[in-house]
Amino acid sequence: MPPVINMEKCTGCGVCADICPTDVFCVTEKKKPPIIRYPEECWHCNSCVLDCKWAAIELRIPLPAMMLYVDAPAKAGQ
Ligand code: SF4
Ligand code: SF4
Repeated sequence: MPPVINMEKCTGCGVCADICPTDVFCVTEKKKPPIIRYPEECWHCNSCVLDCKWAAIELRIPLPAMMLYVDAPAKAGQ
């Protein structure tokens, strides 16, 4: 699932567009929420969610991608 921007929370700072490694976001106007131009390019790294100071981005990470974040040593009991 691509990221979704909460228009009421977004301040249009542009940080998400700056940090997204796959250029999912596109700033078309200063101080306005960016548009999700390439949603299919999102690889669910979660960076935009973590770096948005206003918690304006929601991202549903698909189950296969969530499996990548399993803490392997903890799971193995080490
Ligand atoms: S980082 Fe958050 S507040 Fe800034 S433009 Fe992106 S969604 Fe909006
Ligand atoms: S989760 Fe990662 S790849 Fe997807 S939009 Fe956010 S920063 Fe870009």
